[in-house]
Amino acid sequence: MSDAAPLAAGPFAAGSVNPATLAPLPAWSPTPPEAVAGVVTAARRAQPGWAALAPSERERRIIRVGQALMERRAEISNLLWSETGRPPLESFMADLAVCVGYCKRAVAVSRKALAPEKVPLSSLEFPGKRATTYAVPRGVVGVIAPWNYPVANFMKSVLPALLAGNAVVMKPSEHTPRSGAWLAALLSEICGQGGDGALVGLVQGDGRVGAALIAGGVDSIVFTGSVSSGRKVALAAAERLIPCSVELGGKDAAIVLADCDLDRTVLGIAQWGLHNAGQNCAAIERVYVEDAIADAFIEKLGRVVARLRVATSDKDGESDLGPLQNAAQLAIVERHVTDAVSAGARVVCGGARVGPGYGFQATVLDRCSNDMTVVAEETFGPVIAVIRVPDAERAVAAANDSRYGLNGSVWTRDLARGESLAHRLEVGVAYVNNHAVAGTMPEIPWTGVRETGTGIAQSRHAYGSYVRRQTIFIDRHKDPEPYWMPSDGRSRAFAEALAGMQLGSLKSTVALLGHLKARVKALREAAR
Ligand code: NAD
Repeated sequence: MSDAAPLAAGPFAAGSVNPATLAPLPAWSPTPPEAVAGVVTAARRAQPGWAALAPSERERRIIRVGQALMERRAEISNLLWSETGRPPLESFMADLAVCVGYCKRAVAVSRKALAPEKVPLSSLEFPGKRATTYAVPRGVVGVIAPWNYPVANFMKSVLPALLAGNAVVMKPSEHTPRSGAWLAALLSEICGQGGDGALVGLVQGDGRVGAALIAGGVDSIVFTGSVSSGRKVALAAAERLIPCSVELGGKDAAIVLADCDLDRTVLGIAQWGLHNAGQNCAAIERVYVEDAIADAFIEKLGRVVARLRVATSDKDGESDLGPLQNAAQLAIVERHVTDAVSAGARVVCGGARVGPGYGFQATVLDRCSNDMTVVAEETFGPVIAVIRVPDAERAVAAANDSRYGLNGSVWTRDLARGESLAHRLEVGVAYVNNHAVAGTMPEIPWTGVRETGTGIAQSRHAYGSYVRRQTIFIDRHKDPEPYWMPSDGRSRAFAEALAGMQLGSLKSTVALLGHLKARVKALREAAR
């Protein structure tokens, strides 16, 4: 552990310094909570014009957003470096390298999600009727994001919201206001403002501004963040009876079986445990390794992780990961590591602060157990806790013994066995020999169980947040329906024949046809 003086949580106002260097950043202004409803109103004015565009035109502009992100990669990488301390190469590879393909594929997903659905109706049971269900934009979608991926977290919700014909109001984290504002400006520039409105609205500030956004008239809320904030958001949305998607924390487990490809597994686990300094909702924070290979696995993982360098400058090639984004997050990481060590864990590598800012060395802990804070609670930092287990059965049971359930993985050469174990992981996405990568695939539902929340990001299954369903039902049948009022002496016989037909009686079916004619005739006479 470092013997540097302990950093008090939050010595600087949120979003005021580069977390790697503590260099001050330009001031930013929060939106007064009482001004938030006005931003929603401006978005509402812009929405009908956007929804009236041909879908192909909305798609064209969204694909252009991906291209513009790529063209301006240096600009946004620098901004991400300043607000998160992430080395530009790392944020490029993780957030930007996939953006052109992501936008194109999000468009393909939207076509399926938004296509009208013809309801199959039997002409015998429902003569002359047809029904089609359409996806209708909800109106204005509020999107509240955390600081860990200030661009990517918005993209997964804002793109489908716009493709579906909605306006959006974005609320970036108070820790990364400038990256959020940059993205909102880019989206507005490409998608258009929408007359005197603002198709892509922006409000800035902390939870009070987020709460004002929900209260301020949005028609749907998509929230990504912590469990404690997510609970408040879900309650506020319930109060307004608007749809609400909450994507919350994680404590992902990886299970390493004795027959795995050790080299690839070690690299894969280092990648998905430490990428973005572990500030990933789907970071591998717990590794359950079979006793048979535990020593070899831990020794190799320690060797790889000990080589990783934490950024103290924006020079590419000189670092692999950034610091923690803020002092409070650093304090959590230090507490988890200290608690684990005092409970008997061994520091294989790392375990100390690094650099002038909120940097923490990439860390591997051996001999952890499920009762340690570092295994039970979300750490959200560059720490991989390894738990030795006798076999896969114990590993699955321990992996599922968690408040969270976002992603999980099994690492093995036996793909059939891996797949069968993956089915038993209580998570939204379970992998064999990979982890977290589905977060960059707009086709795959990103969702979880328990305190990870009920939200779904990505895929056609997420569209409940962006569209309501409206069915158009057309009846060109000429006769009145036999069950309409007024009833008469034949109504009872008709009902009995109907019951008999449903139970498969041919005699009742023939009788029904006779009663049907008579009922229709009687109804017509009743109307004369
Ligand atoms: P946070 O909950 O503190 O803040 C998230 C956002 O919510 C911020 O914009 C914040 O200002 C806003 N907010 C806070 N209180 C609010 C309220 N009462 N009403 C409305 N808005 C409110 O979370 P964080 O620290 O920024 O982010 C880290 C958390 O996000 C971690 O737990 C991580 O696992 C989670 N996360 C989850 C996913 C996922 O897909 N499941 C993705 C990324 C991050």
